[in-house]
Amino acid sequence: MQDLKTRLATGNADSCENICLGCVNNCLYCDSALVAAEYKQNIRRGENVVYETLSRDEWHVELFKDRAFDRGVGPSNWVLRFPTCHDVTPFNVKSYIRFGKMLLDAGNALIIATKPRLDCLTELLSEFAPWKEMVRLSFGITSMDDSLSLFWEPGAPLPEERLQCLQRAYDAGYQTSVRIAPMLGGVEDVCAVVEAAAPSVTETIEIKIMRPGLEKMKPMIDKPKEIIRAYIALQLRQRDADFPELRWIYLNHPKFRWGLSEQQKRQELRMTEVDKWAMNKLKAW
Ligand code: SF4
Repeated sequence: MQDLKTRLATGNADSCENICLGCVNNCLYCDSALVAAEYKQNIRRGENVVYETLSRDEWHVELFKDRAFDRGVGPSNWVLRFPTCHDVTPFNVKSYIRFGKMLLDAGNALIIATKPRLDCLTELLSEFAPWKEMVRLSFGITSMDDSLSLFWEPGAPLPEERLQCLQRAYDAGYQTSVRIAPMLGGVEDVCAVVEAAAPSVTETIEIKIMRPGLEKMKPMIDKPKEIIRAYIALQLRQRDADFPELRWIYLNHPKFRWGLSEQQKRQELRMTEVDKWAMNKLKAW
């Protein structure tokens, strides 16, 4: 098996960790919110540990998982993506750091996937400094357009704050990568993100299109029709025109990675039967 540093450099994780359920960013496209509404998990409500699902309407409420209070951790010599179904926020940053240090002390490496906030990032950079070589910061910067960001990610920091975080992490000597996942705008918006971010990215910039799953439409159902139409138009354009164009534009970009196998790339562009049904229904609406 390759050594831990080499595996961290690939950006692929062996497993993931989470200490919370619910996310104040409340992104409309969030897959984790749908999973949490489906499957029960151990969460703390006040002093009580309960085994419950979290409804989509409740997703913006941050709750600790029972896992957050563990005093010891199992895995060692793993690359762990932490978190994957919440973010690092003022609500959990202290617990996040305690848990992260436990994982690093046990001989693991971390990929910190976050839509970063300046206050939380400052703490992370300082607290994880002794393990800097074993930490990769993976920032979600999905658009440069504030209005798109506010619509899709209403509780998340705006793009400018995320870019400032990227710059700080880079200046502090951490490994940095950016995920435009999903891209919220079109080709020009992605190019604007790449241009602004690339000088502070040491590793890779990855991109994903918005998937048009029917379930994801649910939180939008009470939005004005024009917004839903714009959402559908954006998704169709991304899949049919923007994504193929971006593949050409960034064919030889040294930091640009699709982060997907050839098979996954094809799947990314493939619509499922449910997607087609949802698109047709919504276009007719
Ligand atoms: S930041 Fe991630 S976990 Fe939080 S709502 Fe957005 S997609 Fe979901």
